[in-house]
Amino acid sequence: MRFASLGSGSQGNALVVESGDTRVMLDCGFATKRVKEKLAHLGLAPEQLAAVLVTHEHSDHIAGVFKFARCYGLPVFLTHGTYAAAPRGKTALPECRLIDSHTAFVIDDLEIQPFPVPHDAREPVQYAFSSGLHRLGVLTDTGAITPHIIEVLQCCDALVLECNHDAEMLAASDYPASLKRRISGRLGHLDNEAAASLLQQIDTRRLQHLVAAHLSLQNNRPEIAVSALVSAFDCAAESIVVASQESGFDWLEIQ
Ligand SMILES: [Zn+2]
Ligand SMILES: [Zn+2]
Repeated sequence: MRFASLGSGSQGNALVVESGDTRVMLDCGFATKRVKEKLAHLGLAPEQLAAVLVTHEHSDHIAGVFKFARCYGLPVFLTHGTYAAAPRGKTALPECRLIDSHTAFVIDDLEIQPFPVPHDAREPVQYAFSSGLHRLGVLTDTGAITPHIIEVLQCCDALVLECNHDAEMLAASDYPASLKRRISGRLGHLDNEAAASLLQQIDTRRLQHLVAAHLSLQNNRPEIAVSALVSAFDCAAESIVVASQESGFDWLEIQ
């Protein structure tokens, strides 16, 4: 099982997860042409994907989903709330498969467990992926850690974890007060310390790959996020991958 990112942050997100011959894309916040180029960097063609999964309707996650999926005949998996709130273009939708936010489903070699998260969208979910042998948890766009999130993310082999902002940098930024409240609120985004506290609440003994994701370009810095995670997960700073807005991160293989 392996995974890679095409870009991570408020300007666009997309992640690819592969198990055996099955590849799915999680979110697509980029235009189809760029997605194709970014996939090529990973040695993939869009035709090798089996589906696109969506976390929620914010444009950095969904902007490119429908066009890309329609273009390549891919089914889109999303909750009813995300489907209802998704911005519609004028052209026909791709095949949409509505999922229950608590019910796992299978796409060929991948078992996929959605789980609801507190975020200011209609029915946002995040996902854990299992190959049978290994498990990858993905958690971004989450305002607070819930007992259910902690339960789902136990014992992962790899974790992509939101480190959106540094609380002090956000407080000192020139963002309007309402936006600061939104980002740091229970329906906003995890800061570095919240991400670190999640790590302390889950069993990390199997964890091979830890990725800091969805970093704010204005209110965070990779070294601050990494140092928060290192203090919670006893490892070398170099072993933590930081997903970038521009190019995400290269394939990480779970062995
Ligand atoms: Zn986002
Ligand atoms: Zn969001």
